[in-house]
Amino acid sequence: MLKFDLLKTDPDSHARRAQLTLNHGVVQTPIFMPVGTYGTVKGVMPQSLHDMGAQIILGNTFHLWMRPGLDIMQSFGGLHQFEQWNKPILTDSGGFQVWSLGAMRKITEEGVHFASPVNGDKLFMSPEVSMQIQTTLNSDIVMQLDECTPYWQGEKHVGHITTEAEARQSMAMSLRWAQRSQAEFARLENPNALFGIVQGGMFEHLREESLQALVEMDFPGYAIGGVSVGEPKEEMLRIMAHTPHRLPTHKPRYLMGVGTPEDLVDGVAAGVDMFDCVMPTRNARNGTLFTRFGDLKVRNARHKADPQPLDPTCTCYACAGHSGVSWNDGGREGFSRAYLHHLERCGEMLAPMLASIHNLHYYLNLMREIREALEAGTFTEFRRQFKADRARGV
Ligand SMILES: [Zn+2]
Repeated sequence: MLKFDLLKTDPDSHARRAQLTLNHGVVQTPIFMPVGTYGTVKGVMPQSLHDMGAQIILGNTFHLWMRPGLDIMQSFGGLHQFEQWNKPILTDSGGFQVWSLGAMRKITEEGVHFASPVNGDKLFMSPEVSMQIQTTLNSDIVMQLDECTPYWQGEKHVGHITTEAEARQSMAMSLRWAQRSQAEFARLENPNALFGIVQGGMFEHLREESLQALVEMDFPGYAIGGVSVGEPKEEMLRIMAHTPHRLPTHKPRYLMGVGTPEDLVDGVAAGVDMFDCVMPTRNARNGTLFTRFGDLKVRNARHKADPQPLDPTCTCYACAGHSGVSWNDGGREGFSRAYLHHLERCGEMLAPMLASIHNLHYYLNLMREIREALEAGTFTEFRRQFKADRARGV
């Protein structure tokens, strides 16, 4: 099931505040969804995800199909029970990972033939197979199989930028795969919700054709795919400004794989309800922390003796301990930049764990502040303040 209640719209932008009801719970939007590739958000315990206010997380169809495999998933009744997460889950179609295999795969109209990166077995992914796997995973939101149109055909800067004809051909196949995904999803009597994915590369008129055809198929929600695929930033921003607000008003809109905190705020203004990105967790593992006043590299020698937490305004476990009181509000339970710097320098496991908690909390809290601003009718002012704060520097 899926129920989408639009609660408030911003008069000065395309931003909306809404509530999304799924089989495993209610999600307040706009929302960021932490990425849990192998059935785990890397280095973060489910309890920490609950504590930081995560409402829905991602699972990865391709990786879970490879390991542990569908027999195990079936025996646990799906991904929720297996990974001990009882709130909503969204699974991708597996298409992006198959596509990323490069020379190891062959895409045809029927589907994608590829060699398993785990054991070399010859495997086949199709819209029908993707629906069967996602039905076994029992994710609340299922994504259609699409072909992710790349920005570069061939190696980056060696091949050529995808032409209009190539983008059109790819987009048209994704539409046929959307129909097949929808038919198989219905045949399997999957009780969850299937999203269609708008493709069309960097061409606005193709995006509009794709969108129109998907709207006619009447999906309960829509995603915008084929961004963050190697294109220059301006190109991503152009598509992000173009497509989301053209999607049906009374259905959720998900921008796949985006992005920085600035992208999220601009994406909400462009009419996006849902985001996912590996950036907060990946950057955490590299020692790059997002804060209200800009990004912080904790390995930098200037943090060696700094008693402040990563972000003095943050209430996450890393910055405020169990008290949940930020440094600026007088709390003194959090871990210092000096301690995080030390853990990083020693290669201690706790460094990426605390950093991941902080970065995910930062993203989730940013979305919470956006929702509050939308409710209060102060989103324009919020955007101005957000940009000024982030530009200030730590
Ligand atoms: Zn924090």
